[in-house]
Amino acid sequence: MKVLGIESTAHTLGIGIVDEDEVLANQKDMFEPEEGGIHPRKAAEHHYQHALELLNNAEQEADIEIKEVDGIAYSQGPGIPQCLDIGAVIARSLSIKHDIPMIGVNHCLAHISIGTRTTEAENPTTLYVSGGNTQILDFRKGRYRIVGETQDVALGNALDKLARTLGYPHPGGPEIEKLAEKTDDIIELSYPIKGMDLSYSGLVTEVQRKVGDFEDELLANSFQEHAYAVAVEALERAMAQEGSDEALLTGGVAMNSRLREMVEKMCEQRGAKAYVPPPEFCMDNGVMIAHQGMLELKAGRKTSMENSGKMPNWRPDEIEVIWQ
Ligand code: AMP
Ligand code: MG
Repeated sequence: MKVLGIESTAHTLGIGIVDEDEVLANQKDMFEPEEGGIHPRKAAEHHYQHALELLNNAEQEADIEIKEVDGIAYSQGPGIPQCLDIGAVIARSLSIKHDIPMIGVNHCLAHISIGTRTTEAENPTTLYVSGGNTQILDFRKGRYRIVGETQDVALGNALDKLARTLGYPHPGGPEIEKLAEKTDDIIELSYPIKGMDLSYSGLVTEVQRKVGDFEDELLANSFQEHAYAVAVEALERAMAQEGSDEALLTGGVAMNSRLREMVEKMCEQRGAKAYVPPPEFCMDNGVMIAHQGMLELKAGRKTSMENSGKMPNWRPDEIEVIWQ
């Protein structure tokens, strides 16, 4: 079985093609704002403009024609509505043109599935940290339960905001990481964890107000230490509650070496194992959508035309997991 996957939830338009054994194509293009964050309409325009080119490249890379695939999967949500529309339109067009079934998949679950597929994790507690999402998830009784999450902005978004204040372009996470590596010192900030939930918006404001009073690297390092510590604390508590001995760290912020180190250290102390997918599958990509689509198609799920619309606020715990 071959499945094509379309990722378009935010900054990245990704087209992936997979079969059971391997990745046949992994094409992507990222919207890079000239200023500010991700402008929904401009990001959607970017996806629209690059769609044909990426589809053609994917066909060439995989050495097949799109009409040969068995399913067209796309990120149905959650994400930026204008961007989701583009993915859904591409999926519908290809589905109608070639008479191939569509599978609208949940972006968060796709991150987890590709994470367990590309690592040795079997049933991990997941810390999913990206530009738009920050969630801790556990698989229990047929569903991925969200056991902790941010109450406001996502961790990646918080890093991007802080970086922007410091004068760096989007995406800001890697810039904050580079700055933070220049010092081991930290200043004390709020520690924003409430039960199992996190909150990053106030922490960003707190650090933004200190810009100019302290060195940028000290602020970056302090932000990282506090922001990552709360996420890892919630992850550890979720693992303790669940009796889990595997952690999966994924999403774009999983690229961060300090966060990885903190998750690894926590797992080591608990006698658990920490897993992180390869970088190209931590960031948004079409392959994970194709892979998720294949799992669901094999389990018998298809998306009808009337149910194919975007679901910007689709939570992963709304989905009954029929594929494992
Ligand atoms: P995603 O939405 O999963 O594609 O992830 C994008 C987010 O990951 C953006 O907010 C980036 O700033 C963030 N990110 C990427 N690389 C790093 C890094 N090395 N450290 C921290 N955040 C990062
Ligand atoms: Mg993502």
